Amino acid sequence: MLKVTKFGGSSLASSEQFRKVADIVNADPARRYVVPSAPGKRFSEDVKVTDMLYACYKAAVHGEDFKKRFDEIKDRYNGIISELGLTLDLSKEYEMIESGFKGRAGRDYAASRGEYLNGLILAEYLGYQFVDAAEVVFFNEDGSFNADMTNQAVRDRLSGVEKAVIPGFYGSTPNDTIKTFSRGGSDITGSIVAAAVKADLYENWTDVSGFLVADPHVVDSPAVIETITYKELRELSYMGATVLHEDAIFPVRKEGIPINIKNTNKPDDPGTMIVESTSKKPEYTITGIAGKKGFTAVNIEKDMMNSEVGFGRKVLEQFEKNGLSFEHMPSGIDTMTVIVHQKEFVEKEQDVLAGIHRNTSPDSIDIEPGLALIAVVGRAMKAAKGTAFKIFEALAKAGVNVKMIDQGSSELNIIIGVREEEFEVAFRAIYNAFVK
Ligand code: ASP
Repeated sequence: MLKVTKFGGSSLASSEQFRKVADIVNADPARRYVVPSAPGKRFSEDVKVTDMLYACYKAAVHGEDFKKRFDEIKDRYNGIISELGLTLDLSKEYEMIESGFKGRAGRDYAASRGEYLNGLILAEYLGYQFVDAAEVVFFNEDGSFNADMTNQAVRDRLSGVEKAVIPGFYGSTPNDTIKTFSRGGSDITGSIVAAAVKADLYENWTDVSGFLVADPHVVDSPAVIETITYKELRELSYMGATVLHEDAIFPVRKEGIPINIKNTNKPDDPGTMIVESTSKKPEYTITGIAGKKGFTAVNIEKDMMNSEVGFGRKVLEQFEKNGLSFEHMPSGIDTMTVIVHQKEFVEKEQDVLAGIHRNTSPDSIDIEPGLALIAVVGRAMKAAKGTAFKIFEALAKAGVNVKMIDQGSSELNIIIGVREEEFEVAFRAIYNAFVK
């Protein structure tokens, strides 16, 4: 058994958290490769080291005195080192980073030092070998990730290495500069390492006990999803549910490696398993609910629209011309609705409208802003009868006016459009109808 184990920023924010991490790693000899984030927040008003590094670098680039900011960063690490009773001395590293800042080594370089230093400390504390991500994670010149080269390098470098710490979030480009993934990218590094060494499991340790059925800001202590498929996760993440970086799925998925989301503060909780496919019956008919506000519906009406060949294409062309992607497109006999993101649409709305008028001569176009979309996702819906009934009964009872309904052909999800003001009420009504 081989596990790649990634710990997020809050799991490594203090010496106390480091101790929990060491207990977790030492409890299972399969946890041979560990990927750490930079120290995150210790309490809600705290600042992540990554953000401190960005701010410090900005000051350096503007020619300001950044000593105080840099000292604060050093204090975070030195505090952890001394509280863990380690003899590790990072002063040489600090000096190099400081001169990197002075020499404008780049914003990505600056941010990456958070993971780099944390990796050095964790490796020392666990007694694991430190493997610098810059030596094994590669980006192309154009900034895209080089999966093939990375895969080979990670595999070669780790073959014969029994136990290693590989810092998350960054890698290097062909001209040896440091580049990072987007924020939260240590999740991606963990997935890449897991895929390269063909791990049996990719463990992603964070500060929640898994993926929740619903957004905890809307529903009080929602249930935890026990098992979710990659496809379901994609649907939910797209609609705003986040625990894992979106790009972290692809590397492990290609190798069929499951992901286990676990809680560093409650290691005995089973967490959530993310798998390709499963015969396990989910606890509820729905796996999860996610939703977002900020959509606009563009309603187009034209008599005999249904018999006009190419009508839909001509309408969508106008969105394409303006660089707008559409979310959904419910239609009637003589009506068609295109749902878009309000924020992107608003600046271009008159161009789109004029284009549609010129190209399709509609009877009317009307724009309806202020929509929210709710995605009800579940692999069990396909075989279950009455799921739609249950959803709409719950919404009717809650007095919510449904503005749009869209069921994907995979029967994996039902998307419901409601007015933004009714979003929370609708969301809770659906949750309570399925989860008890
Ligand atoms: N430390 C980085 C961030 O704050 C990357 C990560 O934590 O995954 O975004």
